[in-house]
Amino acid sequence: MKYAVPRGTKDILPDDTPLWQFIEDTCRETFGLFNYREIRTPIFEATDVFTRSIGYTTDIVKKEMYTFPDRKGRSLTLRPEATASVVRAGLENNLITPDNLLKVYYLGPMFRYERPQAGRQRQFHQAGVEAFGSADPALDAEMIQLSVKLFERLGLKELEVDINSVGCKKCQPAYREALKKYFESNLANLCGDCRQRFELNPLRILDCKEAHCRKYIEQAPAMVDHLDAECKAHFSQVVGWLDHLLVKYKINDRLVRGLDYYTRTAFEIVSKQLGAQNAVCGGGRYDDLVEEMGGKSVPAIGFAAGLERVVEILKAESRQSKIENRIGLFIATIGDEARQVGFHLLTKAREKGISADIDFQGKSLKAQMKAADRLGARYVYIIGDDELKNKSAVLKNMGTAEQKEVSFGELLSVFVK
Ligand SMILES: [Zn+2]
Ligand SMILES: [Zn+2]
Repeated sequence: MKYAVPRGTKDILPDDTPLWQFIEDTCRETFGLFNYREIRTPIFEATDVFTRSIGYTTDIVKKEMYTFPDRKGRSLTLRPEATASVVRAGLENNLITPDNLLKVYYLGPMFRYERPQAGRQRQFHQAGVEAFGSADPALDAEMIQLSVKLFERLGLKELEVDINSVGCKKCQPAYREALKKYFESNLANLCGDCRQRFELNPLRILDCKEAHCRKYIEQAPAMVDHLDAECKAHFSQVVGWLDHLLVKYKINDRLVRGLDYYTRTAFEIVSKQLGAQNAVCGGGRYDDLVEEMGGKSVPAIGFAAGLERVVEILKAESRQSKIENRIGLFIATIGDEARQVGFHLLTKAREKGISADIDFQGKSLKAQMKAADRLGARYVYIIGDDELKNKSAVLKNMGTAEQKEVSFGELLSVFVK
């Protein structure tokens, strides 16, 4: 019998985890710089948490959720994204209120039943932030600045910020009508999905990736021309703050987000590093979501970054070689007694905080040296019969091939910087 990972999922193997850890550490550090604190919510939620917030008409809710009944018949869903969970948790724990400014971040796996392709998995990983309690345009700009900072610190290049305003409950209906009027005459030329979107939410047509739909989308009316006075003022202040913070951006009036809850500011960070246009993160305001999920009216904004894309880009740029998997010390031994002493030194090294290892496969000295090299050990300490007598042995620096005699008692002092 042979087992395989489920379609659309991947094992992240030990050779790759250092890269993932680097990315996760950089996320935590960067979010921390901007005073975001971590929140961890369950991997699954009651299905309603997602259907109501993300929107019944979205692709996610219609075809991509992993929904299942538990043993008591309750409908549960593996989280397809984290914002709804964060809102649920924030409301349940009374952290999201009109006068509390809450800044939180999350990291972890999300689940969507999609056709797997390069950089797109059914279990994928996101890092994201959410800020609740302010409609201040400076917060929008700070969040965009944060997302750019994050990708710069990760080592991504050729980044571009696309921003748009998708308006609010008050000005969106007129824009929807304008879109309907425009697309009505071209309906027969649009793809099946877009014809459905036309009925449910014409805004979403702007998000279609089909080449023949794009032709018509380019000519469609723009939201910026339909913003009401408040939304227009908010957008121009966001742009003003971005200028002030020296964040470069491009206004992209076709940009909408794939979820129903977005209002006003929508943004994406695109990396052109691998030739293609890769959106590495997307986000925006969702000023009505908290109220729609049963809370008071609390404005909010957030973004999520897809980590698989980042891994792909950094791997292609062979960033990986810089993050090697190294141990500090390998103790090579010849004979049982040497192994016992070696184990004693091994224990001491670990107690001192030096990562260290020894052979467990009865290998020859030569094979032990080879194993130490493969592990990327910084030093190898070689103990045989003579060394036992003298309580001293050769310490080999694997980087420089330099060797020197070091007594058992002095061994660990070599590692003190
Ligand atoms: Zn508006
Ligand atoms: Zn289409």
